[in-house]
Amino acid sequence: MHEDIESVLFTESEIVAGIDRVAASVTEAYRGRDFTVVSVLKGACIFSSDLIRRIPIPLELAFVSASSYGDGTEAGELKLNFLPTNQEIEGRNLLLVDDILDTGNTLNRLSAALAERGAAEVSTCVFLDKPARRQVDFEADFRCFEVEDLFVVGYGLDYAGRYRNLPFVGALHQAALATS
Ligand code: 5GP
Ligand code: MG
Repeated sequence: MHEDIESVLFTESEIVAGIDRVAASVTEAYRGRDFTVVSVLKGACIFSSDLIRRIPIPLELAFVSASSYGDGTEAGELKLNFLPTNQEIEGRNLLLVDDILDTGNTLNRLSAALAERGAAEVSTCVFLDKPARRQVDFEADFRCFEVEDLFVVGYGLDYAGRYRNLPFVGALHQAALATS
């Protein structure tokens, strides 16, 4: 698996420092207010697990699942697989947490879906932000790192289902993109 990585963009210790910074901002933003972290499966499972353990104020946890069709590096049509229960949404302050903000379609659609179902507030937090690829006018309220227009894997991010378990973020060799 490691031999498929051409370059490391964020090491484990850089990731920890980035998460500490964002966790401090989230903590200040929600101090004294009830809120629910809504982790976008599958990609955000690693990031959200590390993030919430660095937020020392009360919060609840819920999950949402969205996926783009296709296994490649280009996103297809977005499918909402499941949402939190109505009880977890209605009147709640939600912090949607995703692995990467790319075209913006996923978080734009998910935020709208949760607002429509009665959330009091929907904010967003992303591990990575790739602003060069944006197709809709959408910015995250919190983000750890900005990345250039490059397909990255690791720390929850996959290529054709693999590489989520790499503890760092890296770019794949062209050969690995072609043959996986
Ligand atoms: P968006 O809807 O903002 O275009 O894309 C969000 C989703 O696209 C992410 O949750 C992720 O699944 C996928 N994605 C976008 N860019 C990358 C990337 O560089 N690497 C990986 N592994 N997934 C990406
Ligand atoms: Mg994803």
